[in-house]
Amino acid sequence: MTKPHSEDKSGQAKRQAIPYGRQNITEEDIRVVTEALKSDYLTQGPRIASFERKFADYTGSDYAVAVSNGTAALHLSTMALGVKPGDKVITSPITFAASANCIRYCGGEVVFADIDPETLLLDVNEVRKLLEASPKGTYQGVVPVDFAGRACDLESFRQLAKEFDLWLIEDACHAPGGWFTDSTGAVQNCGNGNFADLAIFSFHPVKHIAAGEGGMITTNNEALYRKLLQLRTHGIIKDNERYVNSEAFATGEPDSETYPGWYMEMQELGFNYRLTDFQAVLGESQLGRAESGLIRRREIAQNYLDAFAGKAFIKGQSGVVQGHAYHLYVIEVADRLGLYNHLRSQSIFAQIHYIPCHLMPYYRQFGWKEGDLEHAENYYRHCISLPMFPTLTDDEQNFVISCISAYFEKTEK
Ligand SMILES: *Cc1c(COP(=O)(O)O)cnc(C)c1O
Repeated sequence: MTKPHSEDKSGQAKRQAIPYGRQNITEEDIRVVTEALKSDYLTQGPRIASFERKFADYTGSDYAVAVSNGTAALHLSTMALGVKPGDKVITSPITFAASANCIRYCGGEVVFADIDPETLLLDVNEVRKLLEASPKGTYQGVVPVDFAGRACDLESFRQLAKEFDLWLIEDACHAPGGWFTDSTGAVQNCGNGNFADLAIFSFHPVKHIAAGEGGMITTNNEALYRKLLQLRTHGIIKDNERYVNSEAFATGEPDSETYPGWYMEMQELGFNYRLTDFQAVLGESQLGRAESGLIRRREIAQNYLDAFAGKAFIKGQSGVVQGHAYHLYVIEVADRLGLYNHLRSQSIFAQIHYIPCHLMPYYRQFGWKEGDLEHAENYYRHCISLPMFPTLTDDEQNFVISCISAYFEKTEK
């Protein structure tokens, strides 16, 4: 798998920069996109339904709705679930801001609950504490996030949802192909709709499946599915059975008993959140390689784990977790800034995921402050995401590992 390196004057191999994540576009991807561009459909056409069907099958859900990006998927989800001003919704502070912002788009209030410092996921016990501290009906929903690719225990969240009458949106952007085992021993795929009302995915280039931009919502709820289709296209429907206005109005002829071909109705306030056909074929082509990508991600995780096993400078290494989709490989170190800068000097672009959402200036205006969420804030001071993507070569990974080990061996003497 090793790429040949050109040598510079000192005889040292010159390396390409190594990012923390990178998309992989194959000749086959290019071929299918080119073919789609030559077809009659540029925006939403027949390839959307095909991608949706395949994605639903991949996750094991009944329905899938393709949209323009993961943020649009979150926004349509909060709309479809009827979030309104004053609604309180709980999510994790260790996530991309969109997981929380989608609640604000509908005027709801975001309540952050702390993470479990072991799993780095929204702590179901912290959520329970919040729910039990207020009268039932105070909170309307929870957005658990499969952070880094590790599947949330959605069975426990569903139990809470039942007790407290909540809806659940699973933010599975990091976890296509991830899974957890429920209390009966059954494997539950991320986004399969068995526990969450809706699950959302992103096809941003740094995620597992790249479509330029793109997103997907999966569900087993037919009513929500129909609503999402409608909201994706301005709230417009084209369905003779469901029109509000009369046939006479529609045709302009008082005796009409049928609707004319042009007729459609905007029944709700929706958006244009459509995916294009050429993005859908790219997504579908990438989906075909999702399993091999996952296998490679787990291999890379195992390599890091083996390399750092027993090293005192790494705090958080939870081992290779079953069902983890490894969007990110995160370690926690004491001297995070030093390591980040050292890696940059070697053209290794590690990244930080995430600056806690509740301490973003936007959320501070609602009263969130340092000290509110101890585990999330402590994690943020130490975390760093190492290069993790299927086309990372063994040679590149070994270089990353040796740079990290060398840095700590030097600074710890
Ligand atoms: C990427 C991401 C999103 C947003 O997806 P976009 O396609 O970039 O809009 C939302 N939540 C999480 C956890 C993400 O990683």
